[in-house]
This record gives sequence, structure tokens and C-alpha cells, in this order.
Amino acid sequence: MFNDEIKGHDFQKEILKRAVSENLISHSYLFFGPDGIGKKLVANEFAKLINCQTGSSLESDGCDCSSCSKIDKGIHPDVIYVQFEGVKNIKVEQIREGVEDRLFLKSFEGKYKVVIVDEAERMSNGAQNAFLKTLEEPPPNSVIILITSNPDSLLPTIRSRCQLIRFNALPEELVFNELKKRGELSLEEAHICSKLSNGSLGRAFMMDSDLIKWRKELIQFLMHLKPHSAMRVIGLAEYMPLTSTPEDMERMTLAFEFISLWLRDLMLIKTDSDKTGITNIDLIEPSNQIAQKWDLDNILDKMGALEKTQNDIYHLNANKQLSFENLFIRIAS
Ligand SMILES: [Zn+2]
Repeated sequence: MFNDEIKGHDFQKEILKRAVSENLISHSYLFFGPDGIGKKLVANEFAKLINCQTGSSLESDGCDCSSCSKIDKGIHPDVIYVQFEGVKNIKVEQIREGVEDRLFLKSFEGKYKVVIVDEAERMSNGAQNAFLKTLEEPPPNSVIILITSNPDSLLPTIRSRCQLIRFNALPEELVFNELKKRGELSLEEAHICSKLSNGSLGRAFMMDSDLIKWRKELIQFLMHLKPHSAMRVIGLAEYMPLTSTPEDMERMTLAFEFISLWLRDLMLIKTDSDKTGITNIDLIEPSNQIAQKWDLDNILDKMGALEKTQNDIYHLNANKQLSFENLFIRIAS
């Protein structure tokens, strides 16, 4: 029943399957772990599993009973998805209307009413408190699944009411194989992408050739920075995304991440650590040369400067152009 399309998470799936076969289904679950690794897909499969009309076929791949088909299409009246796209803070009323009012209706055709709340961390404190009442006295035959990448932002009282199921980042090899199957990237790109993905298939699928090329160009710029060559540094700062549009902000976050991973590569080379950990495998040769020139303290300094720049921009609202120029001067020296 658990669809093979969902990659990894065998242990988590096993716990859920066992809960069903032993009739120990909890009223509420908290699925937590990094974004983009398939928590929502597993929640969906679990909803199918507990409402399946053929029931017995725990091991088969997929089922076409009317319940499973409806859940697949997102039109099962007893499976409620709560996701407030674009809403920063999910408010009390939204929980009342979206969850409670519908949860307490008698189920239409399913064995269980299932409520799946994605990005549960976006519930305001008020909304969480409202939700808590539902968690304390859930209607019979209901299952609530909260999904979050940030369980700490949920009230402890919410967490303690739920059965916690932790999802881990996917193994790099699995991500690589999936990218290979998709065939949109070259093998080298797929390899780099699997390292950049942090074990998130969702994230890996969002990266394309252009982005992977941009990463390379960015690092090559950094490699060729010369100390005291202000022109070069300013040129690079101009090349960075500097506006506050969501696209530029996302690019900037990636830039920080790419630079940080490259500095980490230099550390790995420098300390003769396991080379399989190196992310930028298309830049090993020039990275080797740089690593010979810079000592460990110097690389650590640059890492510190990178962290400070991030903090200045994200938390102190520093001027981006100036901050990047300063950072690049530090990296060049
Ligand atoms: Zn079924």
C-alpha cells in the first residue's frame, strides 16, 4: 500500500504500517524533518492506508479502490488538507473553519477523517492553542497529522499530544539516482546537485543546469579575486543579487550557501579529509591550488566573515552591496 514512488523513509513507513496492522492508530501525529524530503507524501499514503477499502493489501504497490483513487486525486471528502499558501501566520479563525468545523462532521464515506496540516509551524500561538483543544478531545475515528520542518516552533503542549515521527534527510546516493533517472542534468551536475540538495529530493528537483553553472561561475570569481584589486571586488558585488525581491533574496541565500560549501571543500582538502565529502567536484583542481596558498586559520577567518555578512544582512538590515564588497575583500585577502 505504501507507494514505492515515495523514496526512502522505510523505518517511518514501517512504524505507520504496524500501527494499522496492530490497530494502534494514534489520534495525532507530528511528522517532522527537513523540507522537501517527502513527509507530505507519506502522510497522504497513510491516509490511504487507513481508509483503504481492500485493506488487507499492506504490501502491494498502490491500490485502485475508490477511496485510494479519491485520495490520490485530492477529492476524498474525509481527507482534509490544511495549507494556507502565502499566509505567514495561520490564525485562530482559520483553524476553526479549516479544521474544527470539518473535523467534527461525521465522516462521509471513509473509516477515518484525516486532517493533514502542512507547515504547521505557521500557526500563530492563538491558533496553536485553539488546535490544542482539538488534540485533547479529538472526535472518534479521526487522525490529525501535523507536518513541520521546525518542531521547536510548536507549543510543547502540542508536541506532547502527538506521536512524533522524525523524518531524516535522504541519502545522497538516493538523490543522485533519482536525478539520474530524470535525465535533466549531466552526471557531473547530478552529482553536484545531490550534494547541494541536503538530502531533499524536492530541493534537488528545483535546481537546474543554469543554477549549477551559476554556482561554478560565482566560485570562479572568488578564486580569481586579487587582494587590493578593488575593481574586481566591486564587479563581483554588482554580479550578486542585491534587490529585495523574493527571487533575489532566494539567490542570495543560495550564494551564501554555495560560498560556504566551497570554503568547506577547501577545509576538507587542507585537512586531508575524506574527499568524497567535497561538493564542488568540477572545481577540484583550482580548489587544490587555492588550498595550498591559504592556511587553515585564514579559511576559518573567511568562514567567520561569511557568517557575519549573513547576520548583518538578514538581522541588521545592512546595505547588501557594501556588505558583499567587504566580504569579498576578506575572501581575497
Ligand atoms: Zn485502497
